[in-house]
Amino acid sequence: SVDVQDIVRRFGSTDALKGVSLSVREGEFLALLGPSGSGKTTLLRVLAGLEGSDSGTVHIAGRDMTGVPARERNIGVVFQHYALFRHMTVFDNVAFGLRVRRQRPSSAEIAARVRRLLELVQVPELERRYPDQISGGQRQRVALARALAIEPRLLLLDEPFGALDALVRKDVRRWVRGLHDSLGITTILVTHDQEEAMEMADRIAVMESGRIMQLDTVGALLRNPASAFVAGFVGEAA
Ligand code: ATP
Repeated sequence: SVDVQDIVRRFGSTDALKGVSLSVREGEFLALLGPSGSGKTTLLRVLAGLEGSDSGTVHIAGRDMTGVPARERNIGVVFQHYALFRHMTVFDNVAFGLRVRRQRPSSAEIAARVRRLLELVQVPELERRYPDQISGGQRQRVALARALAIEPRLLLLDEPFGALDALVRKDVRRWVRGLHDSLGITTILVTHDQEEAMEMADRIAVMESGRIMQLDTVGALLRNPASAFVAGFVGEAA
């Protein structure tokens, strides 16, 4: 589970997060939905430990993670622009997180795990390729395998389907949700796409200018929007 209390993050005179609190249940799939600049990515980066906060706390699986460096949080991240390492093969990209571990598994263990992951994301044949020798959709699968390699207790996805064309996107979405259901990893997806949030998430947190305006199931958001903003934003896709 993830428990965020009263996170404030300023950049100069911009209040990116104005006191955000949020609880995500173990195994839940939550979407952060909001327009550009509403603070979604900043919140995800604070959760990942890639960004500090001015105040507030983050607990993950009951442990206080506030101020803990990213690599010690055991969180898997897939960012749209957090591309694969171009000079490394698919295999080495997926192995990366395991090789930089303090307790590094043996080469044989790493190889076995990488192959299992590439099977899981359904691109076992690509292990010797480089990122620019595979398609965008395949790259996202590899990025997901890389994120899963460390056996994260939390998976953070920031607009991971943004670069894909509409048809592939629909496919990959359904597949990622299925993968979530079979692995049961707590997942937070950032998106500005209402349809995507509704199709994938158990609950949606609607953000506007640094605040969570409402956090509810898709049905409840549609039936009982807490404000005109939420109604307008969520309603567009319906
Ligand atoms: P988008 O959907 O466009 O990615 P977002 O909802 O993810 O938007 P954030 O990227 O979290 O929004 O940005 C929230 C606010 O904080 C914006 O006003 C943005 O300009 C500002 N901001 C974010 N990162 C920085 C930074 N490193 N330096 C200065 N301002 C920043």
